[in-house]
Formats: sequence, structure tokens, C-alpha cells
Amino acid sequence: MSSLVAQPQRIVVIGNGMVGYKFCEKLVAKAQPSTIQITVFGEEPRPAYDRVHLSAYFSGTSAEELTMAPVEWYAENNINLHLGELVTSIDAATQTVTTHKGESISYDKLILATGSSAFVPPINGVEKEGVFVYRTIEDLDAMLEYAPKARTAAVIGGGLLGLEAAKAAVDMGLTTHVIEFASRLMPRQLDEAGSEMLKRKLESLGISIHLNKSTTAIIGETGVEKMLFADGSELEVDMIIVSAGIKPRDELAIKAGLAVGPRGGILVNDALQTSDANIYAIGESALHGGMIYGLVAPGYDMADTVVTNLLGGEKTFKGFDMSTKLKLIGVDVASFGDAFASPATSRSIVFEDKAKGIYKRINISEDGKYLVGGILVGDAGNYNMLLQTVQNKIILPQDPEDLILGSRGGAAESAGAGVMSLPDEALICSCENVSKGDICSTITDGTCTDVAGIKKCTKAGTGCGGCVPMVNDLLNATLKQMGKEVKKVLCEHFDYSRQELLDIVKVNNIRSYDELLHNHGRGDGCEVCKPAVASIMASTWNELILKQATIQDTNDRYLANIQKGGTYSVVPRIAGGEITPEKLIVIGQVAAKYSLYTKITGGQRIDMFGARIDQLPDIWEELINAGFESGHAYGKSLRTVKSCVGSTWCRYGLHDSVGFAIRVEERYRGLRSPHKLKGGVSGCVRECAEAQSKDFGIIATEKGWNLYICGNGGAKPQHAQLFATDLDTETCIKYLDRFLMFYIKTAEPLNRTATWLNKMEGGMEYLRQVIVEDSLGICDDLDREMEFMVNTYACEWKEVVNNPELRQRFQHFINTPEPDPSIRFKPERGQKVPVI
Ligand SMILES: Cc1cc2nc3c(=O)[nH]c(=O)nc-3n(C[C@H](O)[C@H](O)[C@H](O)COP(=O)(O)OP(=O)(O)OC[C@H]3O[C@@H](n4cnc5c(N)ncnc54)[C@H](O)[C@@H]3O)c2cc1C
Ligand code: SF4
Ligand code: SF4
Repeated sequence: MSSLVAQPQRIVVIGNGMVGYKFCEKLVAKAQPSTIQITVFGEEPRPAYDRVHLSAYFSGTSAEELTMAPVEWYAENNINLHLGELVTSIDAATQTVTTHKGESISYDKLILATGSSAFVPPINGVEKEGVFVYRTIEDLDAMLEYAPKARTAAVIGGGLLGLEAAKAAVDMGLTTHVIEFASRLMPRQLDEAGSEMLKRKLESLGISIHLNKSTTAIIGETGVEKMLFADGSELEVDMIIVSAGIKPRDELAIKAGLAVGPRGGILVNDALQTSDANIYAIGESALHGGMIYGLVAPGYDMADTVVTNLLGGEKTFKGFDMSTKLKLIGVDVASFGDAFASPATSRSIVFEDKAKGIYKRINISEDGKYLVGGILVGDAGNYNMLLQTVQNKIILPQDPEDLILGSRGGAAESAGAGVMSLPDEALICSCENVSKGDICSTITDGTCTDVAGIKKCTKAGTGCGGCVPMVNDLLNATLKQMGKEVKKVLCEHFDYSRQELLDIVKVNNIRSYDELLHNHGRGDGCEVCKPAVASIMASTWNELILKQATIQDTNDRYLANIQKGGTYSVVPRIAGGEITPEKLIVIGQVAAKYSLYTKITGGQRIDMFGARIDQLPDIWEELINAGFESGHAYGKSLRTVKSCVGSTWCRYGLHDSVGFAIRVEERYRGLRSPHKLKGGVSGCVRECAEAQSKDFGIIATEKGWNLYICGNGGAKPQHAQLFATDLDTETCIKYLDRFLMFYIKTAEPLNRTATWLNKMEGGMEYLRQVIVEDSLGICDDLDREMEFMVNTYACEWKEVVNNPELRQRFQHFINTPEPDPSIRFKPERGQKVPVI
């Protein structure tokens, strides 16, 4: 730009979405204020918001919290912001734009950041009430209003956005189907095997996946009732979310005579100029090199390119890597680089573990030197590092399979698996164009000491957020290199460990997640801190878990485990496995009345499967009236204390193992903890209760009880270790109290007792010193805290059953007594089981 320009350059931006906003942010940051005059028109009623995290709206994040910058920000930066104003025409000859309000304004440079809208295929009946798209906050409001009338939702589209919409449908408590036209899920990111693994995972979470299905019609009198498919099949649904792709908003450009692509999108060159050199297009409306980029990072790079060029610099947009990582309902999915590399030019290494639902594929160059791309399903922990390995052309180790299998002797580490081995130019945050060198220098020069500081200082991690784990790794590795202490924080939203947060909650009498986040954290929270805080609150205050419903996972939100087919299980407590004939009859009657499948579990109780959400309060009311209470099978809390028949009936029994198991189970029932807890009591060394495979196991001896702790079954079995011998009953309870409370206060989220002990410096000997010898001087506190938990216990289901407002949360379908048609069962061995 010429320094002779006296008049400020008039820049008009059409569209105030994420990219339009980023353009303004970059422009005001780089330009001399007197040289520019910015006017922005946005059709939506609110300033730009974070569309990438739109789904967080369903879990309680407000529209304000999603806002990129408040309206005051625009005013402070002399940006003339017109909200709720649609630009209806562009006159390229006179360089003016006109809005629906009749307002006209002239420009020197015009930026089209009009984004895209949801593509709605021309299906018969798609205009019916109950069909939604998933793009704006208003779309979400409309769905939330409609959802209570619905029971079953279908999402048309099994791509990235479709699966995001499916998560939203599950969160709204709906039985959810995904209808995909292609033969696999996320067809742009996954191969057949990856899609199959993802499909299984989603199905195990209760979502029905239909592949190779083309919807031909949507049927219904007034609203949606049924979908018809090309193969002749049909599906009864009462809500549909169309998520079949995006359609660039190029209507204005077409009207103005600008060139567009054959299948839509405003044609731009490498400088992002349209066919009119004074008009630029950026974000999802721009068609560059035959590509419409449906991701935010390329849009941000486009914004940066145009800002640079407008201010006299030189930058070209050279296309963008489409690698993506997303967490779908707790399932990691990622694809990076050339995910589908052809066998003619590369070779692939595949790792599959069907039991754990993990699929990993990496594609390696023909000469074996470089990683060219890959796919990860079920475990995308090393996604960032693999992506960096591709982007920085890092030479692979001799055994490249170590990259996905884990190192067998340091090969992966030496090949660059560690973040510090990346070159300084490695782009860590592609949304904000921040390199490893940029990040590390803010740490080494002392400017930043935590992730929040780095985000503020460099903007890394403030776009889609995918690079935050890597920023965290870089921070820790750099601090370590500098010989500084690395603080273990819960996540980027809190600068505290779980234990510190627990103290903060207690000392400051904090009763809600929002209060804790507001006063001691930052941002909106995430999937790590929300459940961790939920657990902290529960184990500190012992209040009804539903008070914190928005931060609980689905199981805790409905106080029931979701099962295959989208139904829930009902599990009353049967302490120690002991039950009267009268109570057994009640279970039988309830199961028969509601047609529930019954099974005796390994924890010696009876699970009832196949209940609909709306049936849960009624079922529990009947059980509670008969003297049952919640078995907490859904919570990270004590499950069962298994027992053998012990001295009462067994001729080898030394003590009353059943009585002791009941006492222990009733003492710790409902106790929320970092992970589930299981116990066992055996009446002699023959160990019929398998107590040594539990978090705590008690075995009768001639002189009392032996106490074993920190064992578990499950995927990684570990025997419990002997903690103390020949204890009397009261001492055994006292040690158990302290052990459990110490675990609750110090373990990281989702660490079972065995993992907690494995990580503990000093191991069992240290634990013995803390619990038996009170080496930390905390035993009085531990005793008092456990006593509080025991005395304040209340059955959660009883509270729900007696509270009409809480019952309401389970009553989505109360108006329709017939069973949900999409939940289908078949008979098997005299009971019903779900048809998947
Ligand atoms: C549910 C969901 C999840 C997503 N998840 C991810 C993800 O995980 N990672 C990722 O990278 N991307 C994700 N995306 C995509 C990402 O949100 C988009 O790439 C990004 O928002 C595009 O920004 P944009 O500014 O180009 O367009 P938009 O955000 O669509 O903004 C364009 C704006 O322009 C306005 N407008 C259009 N025409 C006019 C006019 N004539 N006059 C005035 N205003 C007008 C529109 O109303 C809109 O507000 C997701 C999108 C959705 C919907
Ligand atoms: S553990 Fe011992 S007491 Fe208990 S049932 Fe078995 S043999 Fe009998
Ligand atoms: S072991 Fe547990 S998690 Fe696995 S299938 Fe059986 S019940 Fe389900």
C-alpha cells in the first residue's frame, strides 16, 4: 500500500462468521488504525461465535460463552458492525453493496466471508415439521424446543458433521440413527476397516448406523413420522437432522457476476481475489484449487493471506492440509496426511484390536523413509505427533510400526516421537499459524509458564483447540529442559491438580462447577475437567449428583447405564449378594411388568435391562417402595462387595463374611470416586468371593481379617496386595476408610486403585505409612471426611422418585405410552434381547 494514501482504505466485510471475525482481528492487529475503515455486515442476530464448538451449547455452554468477541470489541476497534443485516447486492462497477434495509455503502476492497449453509438434498417431504439442519445457534434452539416431543431421531449424513449431530441427538435423550448414503462412515476421512471399527463403537453406545442407505421420502401427516429408503426399507422416526454436507453461500457473488465453480463456491486465485480484483473471498464460501475447505484452519489462513496483501505484504494461499481429529461421543477419530495413500506408491501398516475398538493405519513412503498419512480410530493419542512427522518429513525409525504399537526399545523416541525432536519451524497450531519455536521461546524467555499464558501470548490453541495437548507437551518438555518443576494440572481450564481442586472446593465451600470455573479456572471447561469436578463435588458434598447434571456423562445424567439399542439398565443394590425371597419376587414382578431382561451379574446382584428413559422413575418407584435403593451401577462409585456364604453356612468359614460384606457395602454405598470401586469378603483362604481381584478384599483368618487392596479384574487384571494381617473388624474398617478417602483425594480422574498405586512413589510401603502410621498427619481428616460421607448418604433414585421436577427430566416420551418403535427386541432363551 502506498504511503501517499491519505484517505483510509474502506474495507467492507460481508459475513461475520468465524473467518470474517478472524479477518477483522488480524487486520486491526496489524494495520495502523488511521489507514483503514472497516464495516462488517452479518446476517445472524449475534456477533461471530465459535461454530466449531457449537455442540457445547447442548451441554450448557451459553451463546455468550461461544462468542468470539463481544460487540464492544468491534466498537473499541472502530469497526462499524451491522448485525442482523443481509447484504442483498454488490455493484462491482460502482464498488457499493446494498443491504436488505436499503442501506448502501461504498468500498475500496470487499471481503466475502459468507461461509456456507447446510446442504439439504431434495428429498420428498424434507420441508416437514421436525426436519432440522445443524449450523447456527438458532438451529439448535429450534431442535431443543422440538426434542421433548420426540423419541427417535435420524441424522442424514454419517460424515464429520453428521456424527456431531448424532451426539447432539443422544445428548437430548433421543434414540438415535445415522443414515449414510456411502458404504462407510466419515467417507472422506476413514477407510472401510476404520469405518467398521467406528461403527461398532457407536453402536455399542446405542446409536444405530445404517450404511448404503439412500433416503427417498420423509412421510408424515403434519410432522415427520417415517423415512423411506431406496432399498424399500423404512424407519419410523419423529425428528430428522440433515447433515449431508455444506453448500457455499455464493448467491451474492453469482448475482454480482463473479465467477463461481461448476458445483458452487466463489472462484479465487492464490491471493484469494475473485474474478474482480477488488473483491476477495475467504472461508467456506471460497473455491480454491478446486477445493471448498469445510474446516476453520484453512479459513484463518485465508484471512491472514488477505490481510497481509491488503497491508502491502506478499502472501499466497497454497492450499491446506485437511487432517482432522475429533472426539465423537468419547471415541477418538483422526485422519491425517494422505490417509488413503495408494498401495502403488506406499505401503501401509495396520494395527487392529477389535476387543478394545482400536484401529490404526499408517501409510509409509515406498522407500520406507517417511510417513505420508494415516487413520486412527479408538485411540488418537499420538495424532499430533504423527501429523508433525508427516508435515516435517521426519525420517522414520527402523521399525515404523512402533509409531502405532509403542516403542520396543526407544526407537520411536529417537525417531522423533518426542515433541522436542521437532524442528523449530514445525507448525503446531495451524489455525493460528504458530510454530514450535514461537511457543518454546515464550517459555524460555520467561513470558509464559502455563498453557493459558501460551494461548494468550501466541494464540496457539485458540482455534479448533486440537493442538492444545501438544502445546502442553511442549510446555512440560521445555520446562523440564530448563530444570524447572513441571506442575501437574488437571487440564488447560484449571491450573491445579485434582487434589488441589478438591481442597479449593472444600475450603471455599464451592457447590457448583460454574462457580469453580468462574473463580478458579478459565474458558468453558472440557471432557477432562467436567467429570473430574463432578466427582470432586460428589465426594466432597455428597449432594444429589443430578444437581450437576450438565457436567455428568450420559450414565450419571440418567442414573442408569445406557445399553446396546439405546435402552437403559436398572440395578438395585443387593448388598453382599444377600436378598430375601420377598425382594426376589418384587424384582421378578417389576421385570415382568416392564418386560425387562434379567441377569445375575458377577457382582452378585440382578441387573434388569431394556428400560426406556421414561420408564426409569416408575420402575424405581416400585423398587424403592419394596425397600430397594440405587446400586450405583452407573457411577464412578462403589459397585458391589461380593461375599461368600462364610461361617453361617460353610463348614470351612471362619467368620461371617456375608455380614461383613453387607456392613462394608452399606458404609461406602454411593461414595463417588475417581473410578468405580469393587470389594469382596471371603470367609477363609479358599477365597470363593475372589476378594483379591478387587479394589479392596477382606479374607477371614483365625485371628481376624487380612486386608488386600488395589486389585482389579477387567482389561488389565492385577492382584490386590496384602496391606495388613489379622485385623479386628473395627481396625479393618478404619484402614479401609482412610485408604478410600486418600485414594479419592489423590488419584487422577479415571485411575483405578491399582493404577493409582502403580504410579505412587514408595508404593505399598508408603501407603502403609500414611494409613497406619499417619506419616502425613492427615488420618484425623480422612476419618472425619469419611464419617461425613457415610452420614450424609441418600439414595439418588429415592430423591428423583419423590421430586416431580427431577422426574420431569426422564419424561421426554410421557405423552406416548406405546413403546419406542425404533427399539426392537427379539426373543432369546425365554427373554427379550435387543435387535441391533
Ligand atoms: C456443528 C459444526 C461443527 C464443526 N466442527 C468443526 C471442527 O471440529 N473443526 C473445524 O475445523 N471446523 C468445524 N466446523 C466448520 C467450521 O465451523 C467452519 O469451517 C467455519 O465456521 C467457517 O467459517 P466462515 O466464516 O467461513 O463461515 P460461517 O461460519 O458460515 O459464517 C458466515 C457468516 O456469513 C453470514 N452471511 C452469509 N451471507 C451473508 C450476506 N449476504 N450478508 C450478511 N451476512 C451473510 C452467515 O449468516 C454467517 O453468519 C464445524 C461446523 C459446524 C456447523
Ligand atoms: S471362602 Fe471359605 S468360607 Fe467362604 S465359601 Fe469358600 S470355603 Fe466357605
Ligand atoms: S466384560 Fe463387561 S464390558 Fe465387557 S462385554 Fe461383558 S459386561 Fe460388557
